[in-house]
Amino acid sequence: MSLNVYNTLTGKVEEFKPLVGNRVYMFVCGPTVYDHSHIGHARTYVAFDVIAKYLAYKGYSVFYVMNITDIDDKMIQRSNDIGIPVEDISKMYLRSFLDDMEALGVDAVNLYGKATEHIPEIIWQIETLIEKGVAYESNGSVYFEVKKFPGFGKLSNQKLDMLEAGARIALNVDKKNPEDFALWKTYKDGEPWWDSPWGKGRPGWHVEDTAISIRYFREQYDIHGGARDLIFPHHDSEIAIAESITGKEPFVKYWLHSGFLNMRGEKMSKSLGNVLNIKEMVKHNRPEVIRFFMLNTHYRSPIDFDDTLLNEARVAYERLEGAVEGLRHAKAGSSQGGSDTLGTYAMEARKRFIDAMDEDLNTREAIAVLFDLARESNKALAEKSASAFAVKDALDVFEDYGGVLGLFGPGGESAGVLDPLVSLLMEEREKARAAKDWEAADRIRDRLKEAGVILEDGKDGVAWHLVR
Ligand SMILES: [Zn+2]
Repeated sequence: MSLNVYNTLTGKVEEFKPLVGNRVYMFVCGPTVYDHSHIGHARTYVAFDVIAKYLAYKGYSVFYVMNITDIDDKMIQRSNDIGIPVEDISKMYLRSFLDDMEALGVDAVNLYGKATEHIPEIIWQIETLIEKGVAYESNGSVYFEVKKFPGFGKLSNQKLDMLEAGARIALNVDKKNPEDFALWKTYKDGEPWWDSPWGKGRPGWHVEDTAISIRYFREQYDIHGGARDLIFPHHDSEIAIAESITGKEPFVKYWLHSGFLNMRGEKMSKSLGNVLNIKEMVKHNRPEVIRFFMLNTHYRSPIDFDDTLLNEARVAYERLEGAVEGLRHAKAGSSQGGSDTLGTYAMEARKRFIDAMDEDLNTREAIAVLFDLARESNKALAEKSASAFAVKDALDVFEDYGGVLGLFGPGGESAGVLDPLVSLLMEEREKARAAKDWEAADRIRDRLKEAGVILEDGKDGVAWHLVR
């Protein structure tokens, strides 16, 4: 089956076909680096990380670019508030953002593009818009004249008068019309500035994305993603800018938008005091549990965050992980013979997982498939009925799709080292017991327990498992 995605532009689930061959150009709106990122951001970036990884898994060659907004009103405000230059604010919080992404295993982005490193591209786009008669200069600022782009609002289906109504509140005397938006903002005292044909100033927000995406992808590309609150006016404005410049539509073939993350039923916001930073969350939770928690909801649906739900997710994830550990453990000591039933089930699970992901990247459904396979694996391992091939087939499913979802990772590496080490210590303990050196035997058991490895003496010998 081919991949189908929900396209905000058409309002339909459509078959995914890249514009050119096998190559997928994907752009996602990045953060404004004026503060630490919160878990609402994490939700968006984990969702698109998995989308990029799944596309790569399907065999597409993905080029994934994310912009970094390192100059805008919020950056300047923050700089004034804490008395640190905008440049340093940007460095500090970009580092913080990249650390957070690394902690969460978000690593599919190929290129982060800073707005301030694309000023020539931004200026070229604004000059072109002026030449085409859709933008005008006024007192050193440049505005896009929304009325000159008749298709404005095609993504959000918002009408021009709604934009006008919103803009009227912040009426700006330099603008011809209230709905016009800034492409270039003239320099004010103490603000960072760049030279331009209109004097000193800095770029507006929407044009930064089009400058970066057209720089790397050219005039049209495959996927633009972001959180759904960016559809209007941000993404509609991007379309207006790009299509006015190139005369080609659609600027982007598939627009994908992720749902919100709400805090205990409320929108997360500074004024409500319910903002939870990624750093704070990672301090108290394993990153894989956070990913699992987010991916266990479809990317377009809202997530309601609270501690009970997160705790439930942890317990559920550990159940899955337990099955994976069990398979890894069994694989190390498995022999030939036994039944292939689990292997057949694993092949079925493979197909069901792909079907779920192909239907608008339904990670929730795909995870449910993994739970079914975990149940069958646990049963087969308890009965000791599975053949070595079957164990490998089942484990491969978890490892392949764990790679797509960013789950079951570090355990794999440590388990590879852990198995022989624990076996060695178990042998030493047996030797001590044979020599009736109970003190040494107990010491090995107790020290392993401190390290989280529990030994269980049973009638078939000694088994071990990990606790976290
Ligand atoms: Zn953007």
